[in-house]
Amino acid sequence: MSQSPSDIQNIVIVGGGTAGWMAAAALAHTFEGAGKSVTLVESEAIGIIGVGEATIPEILKFNARLGIDEADFLRETKATFKLGIEFDGWRRDGERYFHPFGAFGVDMEGIAFHHFWLKACAEGQVEPLETYSMAWQAARRGRFAHPQGGPQSPLSSLGYAYHFDAALYAGFLRRFAEGLGVVRREGRIVAVQQAENGDVSGVTLEDGGVVSGDFFIDCTGFIGLLIEKTLNAGYDDWSAWLPCDSAVAVPCERVEPLSPYTRSTAREAGWQWRIPLQHRVGNGYVYASSHLSHQEAEDALMSRLEGPALAPPRRLRFVTGRRRQCWKRNCVAVGLSSGFLEPLESTSIHLIQSAITKLIALFPARTTDEALRREFNALMEEEFTTVRDFLILHYKVTQRDGPFWDQVRTMPIPDRLAEKIALFEETGRVIRRDHDIFGESSWLAVAVGQGLAPRGRHPVSDVIGRDANLGRLAAIKDSIWRTADALPSHTDMLAATMDRRAS
Ligand code: FAD
Repeated sequence: MSQSPSDIQNIVIVGGGTAGWMAAAALAHTFEGAGKSVTLVESEAIGIIGVGEATIPEILKFNARLGIDEADFLRETKATFKLGIEFDGWRRDGERYFHPFGAFGVDMEGIAFHHFWLKACAEGQVEPLETYSMAWQAARRGRFAHPQGGPQSPLSSLGYAYHFDAALYAGFLRRFAEGLGVVRREGRIVAVQQAENGDVSGVTLEDGGVVSGDFFIDCTGFIGLLIEKTLNAGYDDWSAWLPCDSAVAVPCERVEPLSPYTRSTAREAGWQWRIPLQHRVGNGYVYASSHLSHQEAEDALMSRLEGPALAPPRRLRFVTGRRRQCWKRNCVAVGLSSGFLEPLESTSIHLIQSAITKLIALFPARTTDEALRREFNALMEEEFTTVRDFLILHYKVTQRDGPFWDQVRTMPIPDRLAEKIALFEETGRVIRRDHDIFGESSWLAVAVGQGLAPRGRHPVSDVIGRDANLGRLAAIKDSIWRTADALPSHTDMLAATMDRRAS
């Protein structure tokens, strides 16, 4: 069956932060040779938010899809490897746990490993869950290796992501996208034009120039210049569940060794991040302004830096939530214009990637394709909601006290998260939804790390006797720990990866 030619020839991306240049690179790559033009408009005077530095493993797929070489990427964005997140003081002061990328232990009898760990705990064993995490055992030793080997190798259970300099990443993708023909227009947008039917038809720049298009991607950040200011797509405010609404960020010199993980430390009214890059450490304090003044937050952050600050601190404000319709008329919001759930699990760049991937899969032939728009919006809603619930879990299940923590510990939570927690406590089962970007081991790490202790476990775990179970667990630990001891340091592996592919 033949189809008349698409009525979408000119795609305009508005905004050149991480979202804008990721969208430009991916669309130009996808539509190369398809006769569509991609134009990106950005304003240097407005600038980018530039604080997205930590990612989750899905980013590897984005880079791979574009054919980006890992060594080039590491060099140009001053990136480091990330094996997970260390949560310090989240359950209570002085206690830590790790959310690793990758599985715990080895599944046995077709059943998830943690049921056998729960059995051992019930029978007197005291080893914490992360004893059996390859990622954590490598991370705490400051070591790194790429995932490798067959299922019997502990290294096959590793997952990893990156920390990178967001401004350098945007520049890297800009060169990539321009190499594929994307045209960049510099200038502040002062007006948005709409056609008679309400579609966006163009944007007017400060110098009077107009950039017209058939299809628009709004990557203008929190302001949502097209999707909200022009099209009024609406916003679901989730700050009742995620009450942090502010952050202060500052880079500093690195004093500690180059650790292959992010650190998140619970503080009086929120939490502090530490993200190690090759050339500096990114730091930030995310907090609820109803519990801490901006000056108090800034003073607290500056007093806790490990080395001299490399720039003045930057204050940021946000409202956690999501755009009600990420795709409205002929405009799709990608990045902060589509919502923001705070950076606790480094999910924003993933949500950008996910929106771009879905948009490419559902890209319409004409702007009137309502079914595609509906599908995209439903998928994005589900994804934002599962991330939201995962973040709430960190705040809700805690033994910390103080006004902020009392508020989040006692707040009502969404029903589906409450049901998930109840089921885990009762049975040890982690129920995941289809579009949940976090796997069973992620939910497990945070649930157990924050202090949930299931009363039940899978009955198959009782097929094996106490001593045999403890023997298996000891063998798994031994294999993981010996492997971790033999890995190269993170610093050496980073250098080797950059050198190897460069030559
Ligand atoms: P921006 O970077 O704000 O870019 C907006 C673009 O729109 C700019 O180019 C700007 O010039 C342009 N623009 C706006 N208005 C106009 C106009 N009128 N005319 C012309 N151009 C215009 N994400 C993660 O994945 N990991 C993290 O660790 C992480 N940490 C974060 C920490 C904090 C405190 C915050 C607030 C966010 C964090 N994020 C993180 C989110 C991440 O920063 C963003 O998802 C990412 O940078 C994408 O931003 P953006 O491109 O949507 O918007």
